Amino acid sequence: MIVNCRGLRTGRLRSGILPTIALVMFSMATGCSQSSPNQGTTSQQSPQAQEAASIPRAQSGKTKVVTTFLPIYLFTKAVAGNVADVEILVPPGTEVHEYQATPENVKAIATANVLVKNGLGLEVFLENTVKNAQNPKLTEIDASKGIKPLNEISPVVKTAQEEKDQEHTQGNPHVWLDPVLAKQQVTNIRDGLIAADPANKATYEANAAAYIKELESLNSEFQQTLQKTPSCTFITFHDAFPYLAKRYNLKQVAVVQIPEDQLSPTDVQNAVNAVKKYKVKALFSEPGVDNKLLSSLSKDLKLTLRPLDSLETGETDPQHYFQAMKANLQTLETACK
Ligand SMILES: [Zn+2]
Repeated sequence: MIVNCRGLRTGRLRSGILPTIALVMFSMATGCSQSSPNQGTTSQQSPQAQEAASIPRAQSGKTKVVTTFLPIYLFTKAVAGNVADVEILVPPGTEVHEYQATPENVKAIATANVLVKNGLGLEVFLENTVKNAQNPKLTEIDASKGIKPLNEISPVVKTAQEEKDQEHTQGNPHVWLDPVLAKQQVTNIRDGLIAADPANKATYEANAAAYIKELESLNSEFQQTLQKTPSCTFITFHDAFPYLAKRYNLKQVAVVQIPEDQLSPTDVQNAVNAVKKYKVKALFSEPGVDNKLLSSLSKDLKLTLRPLDSLETGETDPQHYFQAMKANLQTLETACK
């Protein structure tokens, strides 16, 4: 199975990184400043250190919630509002698919009340991290509980030797990119937070209801716009959009794997053939990615390369989900015309 986050990451590091960093620094400062992972402590620390570390929590008296990566942070922050402290383990700008946990992550989980994850096998790094954190009081929320994963992935056009990939063993994890499934995730997060912190039930319910309402109107907007271009077929380099495609009658037919270095003439020919065979209308990369291989391939395929956001990185304001998804909708509308 193919998830080419590696190729994209290369591009992301090579260029387009500066605006991303600037944004992330800004949003981390505004969105995640209430508690940093460094505040965590372990029982091995000195009593003074423990006391110092525990003061902010004792003062705030808030439930400490750690989330794994951006979309889960956004949904949890939306539901929690100001009544819980919400942190993120995978900093925006860092690749979630191959993330390696840090000692700070272990500390953050060790001192948390609640851990929220996307699930569906995405957060491979969690397994040992949670074990090492040795926190018997930790409540885990699986945001994808009850969601039936898509195991069938798009047909693949091989443009490079297939890499062995351990990902997607529990189906495709990118459910947050379908607003209807995102609603289910927000509901799961709401119910988990209420179970862990019943005193703030009313707040969690009200916040979740408001966010769900926005997700519903986003869904209508997608439906209304994309019903004009049924079965629009696109190629992506990151197998992130099968749920979105299924929901709105689009087709993600080919996840082209791009090698790190160079495309062979056969690679290009295979991709050109796939574009003809599937009547592909669009070619999507990710925002901030400027990869020479992708742009040269797009020229060979005579398709414009456009950015489609998987939301695995970005700003930490819960409203960012809607802004990024609306930008995706505009991109899809333009590309599918
Ligand atoms: Zn992904």
